[in-house]
Parts: sequence; structure tokens; C-alpha cells
Amino acid sequence: MRILDKHYIGGDWVDPLGVERRDIINPANAQKSGEMALGNDGDVDAAVAAARKAFEVFGFSSVSDRLELLQNIVAEYQVRMGEMAEVITLEMGAPKAWAEGAHAPSGLGHLMTAIEVLKTYSFDEKLGQATVRKEPIGVVGMITPWNWPINQITCKVAPAIATGCTMVLKPSEVTPYSAQLFTEIMHKAGVPAGVYNVVYGEGPTVGEAMSLHPDIDMISITGSGRAGAAVQANAAKTIKRVTQELGGKSANIVLDDADFEKVVARSVVGVMTNTGQTCTALSRMLVPHDKVELASQVAAKAIESVVSGDPQDAATTMGPIAHEIQYKKVGHMIQEAIDEGATLVAGGPDRPETAPIEGFYVKPTVFSGVTPDMTIAKEEVFGPVLSIMGYEDEEDAIRIANDSPFGLSGAVQSGDPERARRVAAKLRTGMVLINGARNDLMAPFGGYKQSGNGREWGPHAFADFLELKSVMG
Ligand code: NAD
Repeated sequence: MRILDKHYIGGDWVDPLGVERRDIINPANAQKSGEMALGNDGDVDAAVAAARKAFEVFGFSSVSDRLELLQNIVAEYQVRMGEMAEVITLEMGAPKAWAEGAHAPSGLGHLMTAIEVLKTYSFDEKLGQATVRKEPIGVVGMITPWNWPINQITCKVAPAIATGCTMVLKPSEVTPYSAQLFTEIMHKAGVPAGVYNVVYGEGPTVGEAMSLHPDIDMISITGSGRAGAAVQANAAKTIKRVTQELGGKSANIVLDDADFEKVVARSVVGVMTNTGQTCTALSRMLVPHDKVELASQVAAKAIESVVSGDPQDAATTMGPIAHEIQYKKVGHMIQEAIDEGATLVAGGPDRPETAPIEGFYVKPTVFSGVTPDMTIAKEEVFGPVLSIMGYEDEEDAIRIANDSPFGLSGAVQSGDPERARRVAAKLRTGMVLINGARNDLMAPFGGYKQSGNGREWGPHAFADFLELKSVMG
């Protein structure tokens, strides 16, 4: 049993002011794996005071000092990469190989990217007669989700450190182990007291106290639209900067000249990675009307390679859903799609035969005959569910892709990359992946419309954490 009974404030592990605790559940067997302390307003006040005090010095630190600090963090992170993968499997059910090959390295990737950017980043710019200085915004409140836990912590913390900000992190209450381990890494790496603080707790208490706090200059949240909107409303009272990475319902346009079987098979398996719990999941596959039947057949075959089961099992390629509420939501949305008339191609609402009896397991599921008015076409499932939708022609495909309140990511598949780029230019999304390309840690990550405001990753992440000061004369 793991007990997380201390926050990290001012460079020390400190007792919480309250007595409330929350169970941490292993989604692989629905059993309790530990407990965490739940913070309150007073804990947030203490963490913010520590961060504010530290900012007086760290806000004026040199680039070379911050580079050295980031390099020390990288060195410590590398030592504990194996443990990081283990705790991520325990807290959110990522299959062992996936936690080792994708989750744990993602944290290292963001730290190393921040170092690369910082080496050449210019904090001064000449415009007209003025010098424009880029200065750290101050104390940043960070609120993170459970689906890519260390990825989302590091893609905020690394650029914040690089730009000279101090911070208070509230990690997801579902996945505190990776946050705890990362905090040990930060401590061991010699992060100056108060620069990085952690208060464990829930959104409506700790997250809200941070959003309302007059001494926090900015909140960076990754999570649902509901939480993003609540943060923005609360932060408005003190005119904070708010950056949000929120949900998505991304479309994957398969053009008529694509290598159909290859593209459909690859895309189906892609949606199921991380048990579909990825904000950029390409959960709507758009194919020409006369190819819907073929796409369904290829998808049904491809899905057989996805093995839903115990994340500790070497044969498993898809673990459980990370927590019970989300598990029930996914099951409900699968049933709702059936009730609304979508055609079930594979999977369904029952538990997978390959999975243990206990735990939050769902079947990788594919629907075809999905029309734009169906709930499954409009709302984010955040689970291993793909909707295949038919389109008339290229313009119709673009129209369907853009017919969403979200605008996070998208993809275009075509035998002609130039044609794919022309279609990509018409998508109202923050990212587009052409012909199976992958995200680049240097390129801005974020969305249009209700997918959020601001960008993470690479040099554009730095801009979010900086204020501009025009110095004339
Ligand atoms: P969530 O909104 O329930 O929680 C996210 C974080 O916000 C948690 O730390 C939570 O405690 C906190 N929170 C909740 N209510 C709050 C409030 N009123 N005030 C302040 N903080 C609050 O989301 P989740 O279930 O953890 O994550 C899933 C969602 O995150 C999905 O919608 C997914 O698309 C989105 N997401 C987006 C990205 C992206 O980069 N765009 C990445 C990952 C996840």
C-alpha cells in the first residue's frame, strides 16, 4: 500500500493542513493500491507563498543556471525511468511495454526539448527603437489530467523552469504516483526551494483555490472542457492568463487515392493506443461512401490484433480504462451509439473475454454507418471507440471534419502528399498529421475552438509562460 500523506512545499515534504484522504485505485483489478492526502485552501496558500518568495530570485536567474538545473533534472529522470513506467502502469493501467516505451520517455522528451530550445532562445528582441524583453510571468498554477500523466506534467514544468517561472502543481487525483516520483526527481536534482511545489487534491477544491488565488499569475490546465471553463471563470476574477489544453473529436480523412487497406488498418490500431484515452485520438474516420463497407471489413480484421487485458501481461496491447467513472461513461456511450442506430462492426459494450474478471476493461470497438447527428460522432468518448463515417467528395469530407465544436487535431491520408496538404490547410485544427506522420516535440501542441487556448511543446510553450516588456530609450 502506497501512502502519499505529504505535499511538497518550499523544498520540503510537509503535512497537509486537513485530514481528508482519497483512495487510489488500480484500474487493472479495481483494488485499492494506496491513499493520498487531499489538500485544501490553506495548503494552496502555503504553496503559493513559497512559489512567490522563490520567484524573487528564480525569476532573475540566468539562462546558464536554468540549463544546468534542467540537465540535472534530466539526469535524475533517466535514473528513475523504469520506476516511472511502473507507477504509470499501476495508477492508470498502461500496458507495461507501452508505459516503458511511450509514457516514461515522453517526460524525458519534454525536458530535453526544453533544454534544446533554451540553448538558443532569445529573451530580447529589437523592435523599432525599443528593446522588447521577454520575462517570466511569475507564479504558475498547473492542473493536469490522468491520461498521459507524466507527459502533461513535464510539458508544463520544463518550459516553466526554462523561462524562470515558479510553480504550484496539482496533478490528477487519479494518477498521483507519477507526480510523486517526479517530485522526488525534482528534489534530488536540486531544484531551489519554492520553485516547484505540489499540492495533491481534487479539482473543485485545490484546483478552484488555485484558479481564484490572487498571487497566482497564470493557470495552465489540461483536462476536460468542463474543468477548463470552470478554471477560466474563476481565474477571470483576478484577470489571470489561462492556457487550456482540452478535449478533441479529431477526424481522419481517408481520401479516395489512399492505400486503403494499409491506412485503415494502421488508423484503427492507432485509435486504440492508450485505450483510446488520448485527446488527439483520431476517433472519426471519414471514408468515401462507396468505401464504407471495405473500411468496416478491414477495421474488423485489424482490431483482432488489439489484445485487451491485464497491463502486466506481455501479450496485452490495450489496458483497462484508467478509472471507474470513465469506464462507465465509455460503456454508456457504446450502448448509446447502438441505440441511435450506428452499426457495430467490432467490440461492443460487454467485457472483453481476454481480460481479468475485475478491473475497468472494455472491448476495442468500431462503428460504421455513423452520421453527424449521432452522439458518438459529436462527443469525445475518451475510450477505444472508432466511428467510421461516409462522405460524398473532398469538400464534404472537409465540411464533416470541421463540423465540431473541437479543433484539436486531424489527419489526411492520400497517395498524393500535395493534395493531402491542400486538404490539411482547410482543417480548423491545431495539428494535422499527414499519411501516418507523428507529432513532433518541437511543434506547437494545442487546439482551435473548444479544444483550448495556448500551445505547449517546443519554443511556443515558452511564449505562454512569458510577459513582454517594451523598454524604450
Ligand atoms: P478533468 O477535467 O476531469 O480533470 C483534469 C484536471 O482538472 C484534474 O487535475 C482535475 O482535478 C482538475 N479539475 C477538475 N475540475 C476542476 C475545477 N472545477 N477547477 C480546477 N480544476 C479542476 O479531465 P480528466 O478526466 O482528468 O482528463 C480527460 C480530459 O482531458 C479529456 O477531455 C481530454 O481530452 C482532455 N485532455 C486534453 C489534452 C490536450 O492536450 N488537449 C491532453 C490530455 C487530456
